[in-house]
Amino acid sequence: MNREQDSQARILEESVTIKPCQGILFVLSAPSGAGKTTLGRLLMEREPKLRHSISYTTRVMRPREQNGIDYHFISQEEFRAMIDKGEFIEWASVHDNYYGTAMADIEHLCANGADVLLDIDVQGAQQLRARSLDAVFVFIAPPNMDVLRQRLQRRDSDTPDTIKVRMENAFKEMAQAPVYDYIVINDKLAVAAEALHAIVTAERCRALRILPLLAQLSLV
Ligand code: ADP
Ligand code: 5GP
Repeated sequence: MNREQDSQARILEESVTIKPCQGILFVLSAPSGAGKTTLGRLLMEREPKLRHSISYTTRVMRPREQNGIDYHFISQEEFRAMIDKGEFIEWASVHDNYYGTAMADIEHLCANGADVLLDIDVQGAQQLRARSLDAVFVFIAPPNMDVLRQRLQRRDSDTPDTIKVRMENAFKEMAQAPVYDYIVINDKLAVAAEALHAIVTAERCRALRILPLLAQLSLV
């Protein structure tokens, strides 16, 4: 086992490692091109109090992306140093680039009771599940794989070789859909956006989350 595999194996074995989140942690995963970024943005517009965790990545910045807003764009050396220092709550090599979520970012976002949105791949979601993180896992699926390819091509941000890698990975990622709490099929954008918003609303209404408030009022 090399150093990187060892580091990921450790994440999968460790139990709770961060302070519990007072708000709700929503984890969105999807094959690249399924519409996770688009749906995430629409959700943030409707829910301005939802906080988005900004990941670290070694991939090159796309036109219109901004450092510190879309991602923290860092070098491979910087990324490896963060792995070595145990700074990631999860990280993965996705489509030949590294992506990770900093533990400190999540703790900071969670500390004030905000609901937090994480946009991570299926490997990262698996690491969070292995850490018994209390989160709501949502999978965004394309209506079919031909549509997925067309969306990747129309997005015009990836080379044909990159699209080939992303499509190959997409089939493996789809196989992970059954372990998610919710699956949203992103066919018509407005319908999918509504479904995602409904999930957030429903999770906030869970009896377990509301009962402590009623108990404070001595109503239950
Ligand atoms: P992801 O973040 O999952 O990689 P994006 O949100 O970047 O995917 O979406 C990929 C492309 O598909 C973008 O060009 C986006 O505008 C487009 N797209 C997303 N959802 C839909 C939809 N429901 N119908 C048509 N095009 C869509
Ligand atoms: P993209 O390069 O298209 O922005 O993202 C590629 C993939 O990396 C997507 O599936 C996205 O969800 C995933 N990703 C983005 N940030 C993270 C992260 O912090 N951790 C993990 N594991 N995956 C991430």
